[in-house]
Amino acid sequence: MKLPPFEYACPATILEAASLLASHEGDAKVLAGGQSLVPMLAFRVAAPTLLVDLRKLKDLRKIKISKEGVSLGAMVRWRDIEDNARLLKVQPLLCAAIEHVAHYQVRNRGTVGGSLAHADPAAEMPGIALTCDAEIHVVGKSGTRMIPAGEFFLGPLTTALEPDEIIVEVKLPAWPAKRRWGFQEFSRRRGDFAMAAAAVFYDQDRSRKASNAHVGVIGAGDTPLRLPQVEALLNGRVIDEATIEEADKLAAASVNPSDDIHASAAYRKSLVGTMVERALKDAVARTSK
Ligand SMILES: Cc1cc2nc3c(=O)[nH]c(=O)nc-3n(C[C@H](O)[C@H](O)[C@H](O)COP(=O)(O)OP(=O)(O)OC[C@H]3O[C@@H](n4cnc5c(N)ncnc54)[C@H](O)[C@@H]3O)c2cc1C
Repeated sequence: MKLPPFEYACPATILEAASLLASHEGDAKVLAGGQSLVPMLAFRVAAPTLLVDLRKLKDLRKIKISKEGVSLGAMVRWRDIEDNARLLKVQPLLCAAIEHVAHYQVRNRGTVGGSLAHADPAAEMPGIALTCDAEIHVVGKSGTRMIPAGEFFLGPLTTALEPDEIIVEVKLPAWPAKRRWGFQEFSRRRGDFAMAAAAVFYDQDRSRKASNAHVGVIGAGDTPLRLPQVEALLNGRVIDEATIEEADKLAAASVNPSDDIHASAAYRKSLVGTMVERALKDAVARTSK
């Protein structure tokens, strides 16, 4: 299908990119890998008059690892995450989730910033950002600001970004080596968007009681979700069979998905419980020091 007509710009600096967006007052769009935007143009879901291509902005391709955590530039692709062996140690939950993103061709082009800005409720990166309390750093005409992931996703394909704002990086806090974690996803075929997935982690003291539990879910609402009731259930408890069974039931009861062409709401609720159950079982079984 032919794309609608548009102007094209390929700025050399982020400020130039932001001022191009600002000068078009919401009628321009950033182009990252084009994996969502190009189909949206083809289907006339979007018809911007200007595309601002970020491909020359090399700083946005950086992955930085420090004792404060991990910073992923907005133009980091799924392939770059997959190829970075250090990330497996310092952000194993991210790496496990990204394994489920799409197919080889899409993974070569799709980007972290594009996925966050596109805000598909079933996409892995928004779910990981929310689960890990990530900070999303953006640049716009009035300067820079940080948006906590918990305030970023407002609805399906809707975020807190202003029309002139560009995501530059997402920061994930440091990951203690002994943290317990699990990621479980169910999709109809490998590489499809999740029917539902759960990302969980917690820390554990000498008495094996969980603290700092984080439970995130994708594919079960208008945005990625955190399940605070399940987190409260896990904190202070030894994560044993009985606790996991309670968490499964509570997770299913905590989400309120709609019926859609892929599954009934009742099926998805039950699936969310099962994903949380399996992710917790993985977390318990993990022996990594
Ligand atoms: C067949 C197929 C299967 C897929 N399966 C999955 C899957 O299983 N899981 C999954 O998570 N994703 C999946 N995706 C999505 C894919 O992984 C991309 O992450 C996503 O499409 C975003 O693409 P992109 O990075 O190329 O951004 P683009 O398509 O270039 O842009 C997407 C949107 O984000 C905006 N944008 C891009 N970068 C920025 C930025 N830095 N700042 C502000 N706004 C920005 C654009 O203006 C546009 O609105 C799939 C895509 C396809 C085509």
